[in-house]
Amino acid sequence: MDIVVVSNRVARAKADEPMTGGLAAALLPAVTDSGAIWVGASGRTRDASAKEPFVEVEALGKGALATLDLPTAHYRGYYEGFSNSALWPALHSRPDLIDTSPQDYASYREVNCIMARALLRFCRGEAMVWVQDYHFLPLGAELRRLGVSQPIGFFLHTPLPGRDTLVAVPHHRELVEAMLAYDLIGFQTDDSRRNFEDYLRRELGLAVTGTVTAGGSGAGTVVRSRQGETRLGAFPITIDTELFASRATRAAARPEVSRLRSSLHGAKLAIGVDRVDYSKGLPNRIRGFAALLDSEPSFRRGVTLMQIAVPSRGDIPAYKALKSEIAHLVSDVNGRFGEPDWTPIRYLNKGYAQSTLAGFYRTAHVGLVTPLADGMNLVAKEYVAAQNPFDPGVLVLSEFAGAARELDAALLVNPHDNAAIGAAIGRALTMSLEERCERFEANMKVLRASSVQLWFADFVRTLDDSAYMALPVVSQLPTVPAAGPRGVEAPVVRFERH
Ligand code: UDP
Repeated sequence: MDIVVVSNRVARAKADEPMTGGLAAALLPAVTDSGAIWVGASGRTRDASAKEPFVEVEALGKGALATLDLPTAHYRGYYEGFSNSALWPALHSRPDLIDTSPQDYASYREVNCIMARALLRFCRGEAMVWVQDYHFLPLGAELRRLGVSQPIGFFLHTPLPGRDTLVAVPHHRELVEAMLAYDLIGFQTDDSRRNFEDYLRRELGLAVTGTVTAGGSGAGTVVRSRQGETRLGAFPITIDTELFASRATRAAARPEVSRLRSSLHGAKLAIGVDRVDYSKGLPNRIRGFAALLDSEPSFRRGVTLMQIAVPSRGDIPAYKALKSEIAHLVSDVNGRFGEPDWTPIRYLNKGYAQSTLAGFYRTAHVGLVTPLADGMNLVAKEYVAAQNPFDPGVLVLSEFAGAARELDAALLVNPHDNAAIGAAIGRALTMSLEERCERFEANMKVLRASSVQLWFADFVRTLDDSAYMALPVVSQLPTVPAAGPRGVEAPVVRFERH
């Protein structure tokens, strides 16, 4: 079965480079093993007046990678503007940070049109299309408008907040109505699916019915709109657990890892690995660590926090402000508690290859993952997979990460409660070997029960099942600008061999 996967970012199989985020990290092994065609932005822009975007295709495992240059005139509005200054903050329950313009929205829609046109050449035969994430909410509707009749699915990697927050997004109705062109919409958790259903019922007056089996998590539902039926389900994304575990074993020999170990001089290590993003709860984590040093002076000199904070979206004002807030906090804590021979926080503004990270995770006695909102958080899963089964570290995990639904043997914390974060770190540092092993085994059992390859296959199978359920039905929906009924016209496709 041919599958076309679409996302804003893509990744290449380069073992020694950092991943740009969870989406790329998860999709890389899944695409490589499945033989799919992965289409995304090249990261370059061009002043293109040509109707057809410039696309380059290269091999990727059993499949292929196709990247396109997006138009310079629309890139900022699409990426920094609407995607990351309207959708991202709202999806992560920070509507107060929405900062966008009508031009941004026009660029967002334009880039979705351009991507749809670029995809036509890959939508040959029975190929199914699987669109990833919030950059492309209306892409399915644009494809339908161009006459694509194959199954089209969508997966949201972020959380989907409650209706009260979603309505803060400019043009939210238009966007959600466009999403109903998809045959299947997948979420990370059932909470997100339920929030979406609540929006559909209350905002669009649609009926959401039934219980169908969708994805790994069981229950799913169906919504009927003028555009046909759309199945909704939860498909929690995951990692290649065995790969991470074996990377961690091998990583002990890497120079960065052995240097880190010998630099600790007997102190224990807590690790945080995040993009610099307000959803990740970095200030709270640092305050939580400081709360521990403050309330339990016996831990001073005995523990060091290494925070890898990968620069992200640095041109957006909210991200710039966050970066300087974190830098100030780190310097305050180091100045207040540091000693000539001990620095409480090692703060690193750069990314590492996953094979190195695996060794860092294994060296750390505590993994700190404290987002205020997170679709899944793969770092939490990677930290567990990388542990030494005979002497495992302890994961301290925010209850607001999707991963907390699965890794419930972690020490779950409210990331808004600094004292609770501090207490959890203290508890992790003093936990008996027996309890650490029990918690590790319980979390590993969950991780071993799935894999990113299974996640991929589950979604694709469910999309295949959902695709031809019912023809469009009439409803009270207002006109949806971008979408036509499914399967009415054969696409005008120019097949090109690459
Ligand atoms: N990552 C990496 N190098 C780094 C930091 C992170 O390769 O220095 C990877 C990490 O291994 C994980 C991904 O980036 O696979 C981050 O995914 P997560 O779901 O935790 O967060 P996101 O960035 O997608 O919000």
